[in-house]
Amino acid sequence: MSRVGIVGGGQLARMLALAGAPLDIRCTVLDPSPDACATQVTSSILGAYDDPTALATLAGVSDVVTYEFENVPVGAVRSLERTIRVAPSPDALETSQDRLAEKALFERVGLPTAAFAQVDSLDDLVTALQRIGTPAVLKTRRLGYDGKGQAIVNDPVLAEDAWRSVGEVPSIIEGLVDFDREVSIVAVRGEDGDTRVYPLSHNEHRGGILRVTRAPASGVEPATREAAERLVGSVMADLGYIGVIAIELFQVGERLLGNELAPRVHNSAHWTIEGAETSQFENHLRAVTRLPLGSTEALGHSAMVNLIGSIPDPASVAAIPGAHLHLYGKQPRPRRKLGHVTVRADDEPMLERALLQVEGLVDETNHE
Ligand code: AMP
Repeated sequence: MSRVGIVGGGQLARMLALAGAPLDIRCTVLDPSPDACATQVTSSILGAYDDPTALATLAGVSDVVTYEFENVPVGAVRSLERTIRVAPSPDALETSQDRLAEKALFERVGLPTAAFAQVDSLDDLVTALQRIGTPAVLKTRRLGYDGKGQAIVNDPVLAEDAWRSVGEVPSIIEGLVDFDREVSIVAVRGEDGDTRVYPLSHNEHRGGILRVTRAPASGVEPATREAAERLVGSVMADLGYIGVIAIELFQVGERLLGNELAPRVHNSAHWTIEGAETSQFENHLRAVTRLPLGSTEALGHSAMVNLIGSIPDPASVAAIPGAHLHLYGKQPRPRRKLGHVTVRADDEPMLERALLQVEGLVDETNHE
């Protein structure tokens, strides 16, 4: 039996805990909300992420501590590290919390990005726009996710509005990429450096939120796939990474540009529960508990649809061949991720047929 502490008690922690049960890996989550959905399936500690007493309690019931979201205060994780093993490392967490550090890491390992510049003042923004041009997107360096803390700048004369709208805080400005599609690469690395990479996923966002993932992404040239695998391997080696990581990328032709990384299991790899030999959740737990990693091979073709704001009739989903319903036990709220449906099929035409059926149910009910 091993014991894993998880900072954060949302759906990612819930799915980690569920994946741990067959391996007798017992998870305990720390969350400030008594309603955090992982608490329905595993042990929990109620407390703030940076509450020293709560963190000490978590360390006391764990052999290793991990986290399920990247806005955990780095200071809290560093203090935890004095008494217990933490994976991924606080350095990886810190990098992922700062868009500028992320971009610097991508540059270091040779992963191209959109043109970007650091912005600490309106003057910086005006100067950067002269070089980068418009349209561009201004993003706060910290605490932005799902499209929050961002402003599109369509004309340099609108620089001041954009600077105000993000709150005049340290930011970066990026050229807006006219991408063909958004993809992500999810991989896992063990303490011994063993690295396994899942196939690229193709992600469709609407309103800044992931809606549908298809995996393996269709029509990826072998050289593109190899480049993505090499780059995610270099990112993990650079960080001395342990666990699952996700990198979101823009695909332009056969070029991949790095957008951002998540030092955790990721929504774009939920399909791996049914669609891969070993799920991202199991592999993350294997990595942090020092078990050998499992194969990341895809089993046929998968698509995942997020359930946002409302839930379709479970019986209707269950009636679709190859469809699997995952509900997170959360109260419905606009724009809230309440669950997902994964469809698995042996070929892409079968997958698209089943996906249309799922989307039909979801579109009827997804009020935002
Ligand atoms: P992010 O919070 O950086 O993941 O951005 C959220 C979404 O905004 C991305 O998934 C893209 O759809 C879009 N986006 C962000 N940055 C850019 C960019 N530089 N060029 C084009 N689209 C972008």
